Amino acid sequence: MPDTLSPHTPMMQQYLALKAGYPDTLLLYRMGDFYELFWQDAEKAARLLDITLTQRGQSAGQPVVMAGVPFHALETYLARLIKLGESVAIAEQVGEVGANKGPVERQVVRVVTPGTLTDAELLHDKTESLLLAVHQGPRARCGLAWMSVTQGVVYLAECAADELSAWLARTTPSELLYSAGSTERFEQQLLGLRHNATLACPLSPRPDWQFDAALGERKLLEHLGAASLHAWQAHDLPQAHAAAAALLEYAQHTQGRPLTHIHSVQVQRADELIHLPASTRRNLELVKTLRGEDAPTLLSLLDTCMTGMGSRLLKTWLLTPRRERTEARQRLAATAALRGQGSGGPWQALRAALKGVADVERITARIALRQVRPRELVALCKTLQKSELLAHDTQGFEPYLAQILTDLQPPAAATALLQRAITEEPAALVRDGGVIATGFDAELDELRAIQTDCDAFLLDLETREKARTGITNLRVQFNKVHGFYIEVTQGQASKVPDDYRRRQTLKNAERFITPELKAFEDKALSANERALAREKWLYEQVLDQLQTHVPALTRLASALATLDVLCCLAERALTLGWCAPQFVPEPCIDIEAGRHPVVEARLAETSSGAFIANHTRLSLNTRMQIITGPNMGGKSTYMRQVALIVLLASMGSHVPASSCRLGPIDAIHTRIGAADDLANAQSTFMLEMTEAAQILHAATPHSLVLMDEIGRGTSTFDGLALASGIATHLHDKTRAFTLFATHYFELTELPATARHAVNMHVSAAETTQHGGDIVFLHEIQSGPASRSYGIQVAKLAGVPTAVLHHARQALAALEARASADQAQVDLFAAPPEPEQGTSPSALEAALATLQPDQMSPREALDALYQLKALH
Ligand code: ADP
Repeated sequence: MPDTLSPHTPMMQQYLALKAGYPDTLLLYRMGDFYELFWQDAEKAARLLDITLTQRGQSAGQPVVMAGVPFHALETYLARLIKLGESVAIAEQVGEVGANKGPVERQVVRVVTPGTLTDAELLHDKTESLLLAVHQGPRARCGLAWMSVTQGVVYLAECAADELSAWLARTTPSELLYSAGSTERFEQQLLGLRHNATLACPLSPRPDWQFDAALGERKLLEHLGAASLHAWQAHDLPQAHAAAAALLEYAQHTQGRPLTHIHSVQVQRADELIHLPASTRRNLELVKTLRGEDAPTLLSLLDTCMTGMGSRLLKTWLLTPRRERTEARQRLAATAALRGQGSGGPWQALRAALKGVADVERITARIALRQVRPRELVALCKTLQKSELLAHDTQGFEPYLAQILTDLQPPAAATALLQRAITEEPAALVRDGGVIATGFDAELDELRAIQTDCDAFLLDLETREKARTGITNLRVQFNKVHGFYIEVTQGQASKVPDDYRRRQTLKNAERFITPELKAFEDKALSANERALAREKWLYEQVLDQLQTHVPALTRLASALATLDVLCCLAERALTLGWCAPQFVPEPCIDIEAGRHPVVEARLAETSSGAFIANHTRLSLNTRMQIITGPNMGGKSTYMRQVALIVLLASMGSHVPASSCRLGPIDAIHTRIGAADDLANAQSTFMLEMTEAAQILHAATPHSLVLMDEIGRGTSTFDGLALASGIATHLHDKTRAFTLFATHYFELTELPATARHAVNMHVSAAETTQHGGDIVFLHEIQSGPASRSYGIQVAKLAGVPTAVLHHARQALAALEARASADQAQVDLFAAPPEPEQGTSPSALEAALATLQPDQMSPREALDALYQLKALH
């Protein structure tokens, strides 16, 4: 594109001047009924949206390359672009057509970016769209600040650089801001996270000066209307303040106005939350299935909320459970109160009332941003009236629930204002008129009366003119192009009086105007225009008045969402037969008749039999279970169900069990290989070991660790050796609560020497019929599995009989050889000393130097590769 504007056409000059302010953003430039994109933007949009690229005329000697979308389809195209991670600036015509020489004045009125969406059409009802800014501070500290523009809260956190990925995985932003002045290494780290899909959002570099701690603190204080951040315990976080500065600046820039609805700050500290690494969220299928679908997941099973606000809050509760149990206890107590005794309890009536409640949270944000549409205000008004009825007599409720019910009391003045101001069925847009209610404003009513009187006047005029002219088929009419006119057929045209002025000649008729009709036309048309302008002005007045209610509306939104989630949890507990967990100070996970809620629901849905409940007893004395048994026996299901029950309890939900006692928990770690991992064994093994290493480093005696088939990604001996090393380390050093499922039967020897480990197995029975078929009982029982059922499983799967026969013979031969082999390797014994007198080989020498107990899994892996190279 050329550097100077002067050789361009005036229109292109205007475009290029606007575009200069948004170099990295697609600029949609309104021209009549289209939004047009030019040059590179046009080429990109044509590619992304599959729209036609055209050339029209020339500017500065170049063909003008353009592509456009019709204005009424803007939302659809925006949604597609945002989904692709693009940002879009929208330039509207703001000046009067023909007011000046040259093109109509245009301005960028808003910038739509993936992390700052506010339009109901672009937002997902049940998912928050978050904008996050990260600041690289000194001494490898990072500051984080994030928010949803449609909520009233800014979240702050600080972490070490190596914890950043865990934070980003947890917050799952839709757009990430970082300083254009960050070090290359930091930028590479972010790009790396995007590459490995920890971050699935666009990264937007912002000017370095915007990441300023003092500026951030000042902005936060302004939003809070406070003189210090102490009350929010947010005062001592300079890196997070720097991030907040850039965050708020960007959010404001995209909305084109200050975000007056942000009134709250929340600090998140990693050591206050139960750590749920990305792998845990994925493996346990908390909010997405392993295939990336929304259902069936724990969330999809749990979420019977009546409102989008409730669904969004439920997801937050699920993904950010706290270590400290006060919140979970409050939620459980409230759920119990809502659930009531027997069939009673107020939850049912409350849920019925919550049905159809408007998204008060988002509507409130749009009020503050002055983007709210008339129909949203009507929906809000109805919800306010409803929540007034919901606001219960709080007598007898425990304080947490009582507070929620009190907060449901809507700001009465807002309800009254909306009721008076907005008609019940307004037009979609204010500019179309018909939004402000009759009786709200005398001037508007008068202007409207002129339009209403119009019909009567025209009828009267027609009668009078017929009488005056004697033309019986004379008609007074109106059309948009020609305005008002009196139509007379050609045959009668000679009879018209002198004061008739010809307006238009048609084939069969003449159209006339009279001074009286002209005067009326002027009055009527200007009344219409003035009424529209008046409505627009009044609407702005209503928005002004609503601003004072924004804090109360935000409180109401939060009460509605919380009540919705609590009722949802009460309903789930009753419908699914869940029990309230009990929190205890001593370390334990003690579950009676636990079930995997999602597998159970699937079995019920497909009528594939009942789910078999299992007990879990982990305590200081029994910290590890080595779980063996046939494939498909239920090992993974059992392990996952324990993790899901722990998580559900920690968020304050009832749990699928007949009873559950739970001690302190600080993290849930999982290492579970997906079946399709095997396709890519080398990198899978690396991933497996990396994840295992992370767990060994991060887990504590208060963590729950799930290890499923570790070592499967490499050769048998490597795998077995590593699995035993990892199990031993978890038992001796980490001392986490560990469920360790394995197909290495050798590992069942571990409990013999490891005091806190026990053997468990999934039971299976061989039937006598059908020649020894296997039946899975899915019961977890103590002791090691007695033998491998691999061949029976293969038979079930339909492997041809000849192959099975061959396999049985091979198995018998292998077993015979194994028992004949005197020199059984003791997996858990210390490595033997090299024999005296013989000189060790390089391989043996290298082996002798290894100290497995001192090694991290990563080092063990490196050592293995070195040994392999020496072989
Ligand atoms: P493994 O990990 O031992 O290979 P899974 O845990 O994947 O086995 O279980 C295989 C299937 O068995 C599950 O998909 C489920 O349909 C069924 N299953 C597992 N546990 C149970 C149970 N406790 N009750 C009923 N069915 C179960």
